This record gives sequence, structure tokens and C-alpha cells, in this order.
Amino acid sequence: MNTVVLLLTRDLRVHDHPALAASCANAERVVPLFVADPALTVPDNRRRFLLESLQDLRDGLRRRGGDLLVRSGDPVAEAVRTAREVGAEGIALTADVSGYAARRQERLARACARERLALKLFPGVTIVPAGEVTPSTGGDHYKVFTPYWRAWQSRRWRGTVATPRKVHLPDGVTGDDPRTVLGDAKSESPHPMSGGESEALRRVRNWRTKAAAYADRHDDLPGDATSRLSPYLHFGCLSPLALATTDGMPEAYLRQLCWRDFYHQLLAAFPKLGTQAFRPGAQEQWHDDPEALQAWQAGETGVPIVDAGMKQLAAEGWMHNRARLVTASYLTKTLGLDWRDGAAWYNRLLIDADVANNYGNWQWVAGTGTDTKPYRRFSPDRQAERFDPDGEYVRRWTGTGGQPARP
Ligand SMILES: Cc1cc2nc3c(=O)[nH]c(=O)nc-3n(C[C@H](O)[C@H](O)[C@H](O)COP(=O)(O)OP(=O)(O)OC[C@H]3O[C@@H](n4cnc5c(N)ncnc54)[C@H](O)[C@@H]3O)c2cc1C
Repeated sequence: MNTVVLLLTRDLRVHDHPALAASCANAERVVPLFVADPALTVPDNRRRFLLESLQDLRDGLRRRGGDLLVRSGDPVAEAVRTAREVGAEGIALTADVSGYAARRQERLARACARERLALKLFPGVTIVPAGEVTPSTGGDHYKVFTPYWRAWQSRRWRGTVATPRKVHLPDGVTGDDPRTVLGDAKSESPHPMSGGESEALRRVRNWRTKAAAYADRHDDLPGDATSRLSPYLHFGCLSPLALATTDGMPEAYLRQLCWRDFYHQLLAAFPKLGTQAFRPGAQEQWHDDPEALQAWQAGETGVPIVDAGMKQLAAEGWMHNRARLVTASYLTKTLGLDWRDGAAWYNRLLIDADVANNYGNWQWVAGTGTDTKPYRRFSPDRQAERFDPDGEYVRRWTGTGGQPARP
């Protein structure tokens, strides 16, 4: 093939990028394209991270002789239009799993068929593609984590692919500053992580020296001893497979990456994960209490560990997993408020907010999802005793003069 348009979505990297690597290997010219889709609401925290990630990706492509085109509009229409403009014979895309992504892929397939363009889909969003491991007892997905974890571990993973040395653009095609489409995005949170593949890879190098302690320390709230790589995984600045196959990643850490794959295969099979209870027959009788919801959002419930978590979310656009469990359990099981409202607030602030992981986890905590003990409730006092025994995490986020953790 002579020319391929590479439509980028949340695969904003050049390392271990199967669609980019195959396009560079099989076509003489490659046109990387990102389309800001007005149908997708991107809150400010993620918008700023996205902007930084696109700027860094553009730098990475330019270092290899290529560039990044940035447009706004319907990604299907823009990809086809760009293909026509540059005289491409095909479009390459990393497959994704949400209902919206699946419909986008179907529309793109139809548009490509009409325009006589070849469409090629590639893996890369998860380690094991959704639907590749299925229960021997039947069904197209796993509903319970532990059997999925066993099947996932025994599955042969694809090999990581090399970063292309050169990306050749067609003559006369030039890239765009992502700010022309995204503006000067400002984050809502004052202390966010910075976006981009370069930052992701720097963090992975740092994480390698700490990962061995993960099993013992991942629940230590003040210790802040998790990898903080979730925003990079969400935007694809980091390949989950490259991360999982980095030397020194302990099993306890791979298990968490497996949870990510687990929720992706769940979402692929149950696209209504964000709106409907996953567990058949789940009782959903939520109270309506706007004041209690607002106090929870503001970190003003009066329960220190809950308030600390919510303040961390507001300050960083990220929250420790243990605090996510405690704050979500408090909202749903103590206050009896709807998990959808909690998930919506997380979705507004979390840089890593992700249809699969956010709703999958919220449903797990609310007891409407995949937890095999749906009536489990995390007592805030007990959780604080176990995971913040000296009250350091609470002081950091609710005390006067507390400093945000800067990894
Ligand atoms: C109510 C609730 C909502 C959540 N919403 C999100 C979300 O929108 N996006 C998101 O990425 N994670 C979400 N999580 C999962 C988890 O809290 C975060 O992935 C984790 O805190 C990110 O920090 P880290 O990168 O330091 O994680 P680490 O502990 O270092 O784990 C490494 C990676 O494994 C994955 N992972 C870890 N735990 C989980 C999990 N329980 N489910 C799925 N993947 C996991 C993440 O990609 C994470 O980056 C949610 C958890 C809860 C309880």
C-alpha cells in the first residue's frame, strides 16, 4: 500500500503501537490523525492531559520524520476525508471496546466499504484483547474475576512491537498544533499529573525501582506506593503490554493490570455498564439526597477518611485506590446514594476516568456488579485504622497546610 491514514483515539504513543508499526512497515507513507470528537464530553482535567499527550506524541512523530494532523468533528467523516485528500488506500485504527467505540468502528467500516478504502483494526488498548479469553463453560465473557485471572495468565500474549524508526508523510502534508483544536486547556485540579508518552516512560523507569514492594505497600494510603500510571494507560501514552512485560513487575501488580483487562472485556460484552446494573436481579433502591451528595463531592461529610479521599480527587484529579473504595462504599452503602451519581463526579475529575474501569469498579462497590459479595461494606473507621493508622493521609488532604504528594 502507498498511503495509510492512522486514526488515533486513545493510543497516544509511538512505542508498542501495533497499528503504527504495521502502517509504517506496510505503507510507504503514513498520515497520523487525531480527531477531537464533539460528541464526547472531555472534562477539563482530561482535556489538559489530552492536550499534553497530543503535543508529546506530535514531538515523537516529528523526531521520526512524521507529524500529527489534528481535526475536530466526526472521526469517521474526518478520517475518510483526510484519506481522500492525501490519496490513501486504507485506514488503520486501534480497536476499542465501549459501545461508542464499537459503533464508531462499525460506521468507519461502512464508510470505508463505500469509499473503497481498506480498514485494518489492531490490538493495543488492553494486554489480552476483549473476547480473546472466554469461559470454557460458555458465554462470550467472564463475569467473575478469579477465573478470568487464571485464564488471562495462561494465555499467550502477543509480542510487543518495535517503535518505527521513520514515519514518512506524503509530500505537502503538514501537521497541526493540537492547541488549534483543543485550545489552551486548563485543568480543574490544581495539582494534576502531566500528560504524554515521555512522562509515562519516565514514570515507568522510576516505577521499576519500586514495584517489588507493591504487594506489601499498595494499600498504604499515606505511603502513596502505587504506580500512578492509570492516566497514561487510559490515554494509551503507555502500552499496558509493554508495562506488564517490563522486567521486575511482580505478580500482585500484573493482577491489577488484569483487573483493567477484565473490566474491558466486561464492557465489550455489556455496553450498558455505565447505566444499568450488571448483576441480574440487583436491588437498586437509592435515596435522593442532593445535600448529602454535594457534601460528599466537596469532601465535607465529616468522616475524615472519606473527606480526605474526595479532597485528593479535587486537588490531583486522581485518588488512591483504597480511598476510591472507601469513598464509593460510603456513598452507596452508607448514604444509600446512586452509584451513577458517584461515578459521574469521578468522571468529571479523574484524569484516568474510563468507561470500563470507572463504571466496572463503581458497580463492584455498589454491589450491582461483579463482586461475589455484593453486600460487603467498607467501614471508614476500620479502613482508616488499617490503612492510615497515624492519620497522615487524612492530615495531608484535610489538615491546614497539607502538601499534596509529589511522586
Ligand atoms: C469506585 C472506583 C472507581 C475507579 N475508577 C477508575 C477509573 O475510572 N479508571 C481507572 O483506571 N481506574 C479506576 N479505578 C481502579 C483503581 O482505583 C485505579 O486504577 C488505580 O487507583 C490507579 O492508580 P495506579 O495507577 O497507581 O494503580 P496501581 O495500583 O499502580 O495499578 C496499576 C494499574 O492497574 C490498573 N488497575 C488497578 N486497580 C484496578 C481496578 N480495581 N480496576 C481496573 N484497573 C485497575 C490500572 O490501570 C492501574 O494504573 C477505580 C476504582 C474504584 C474503587
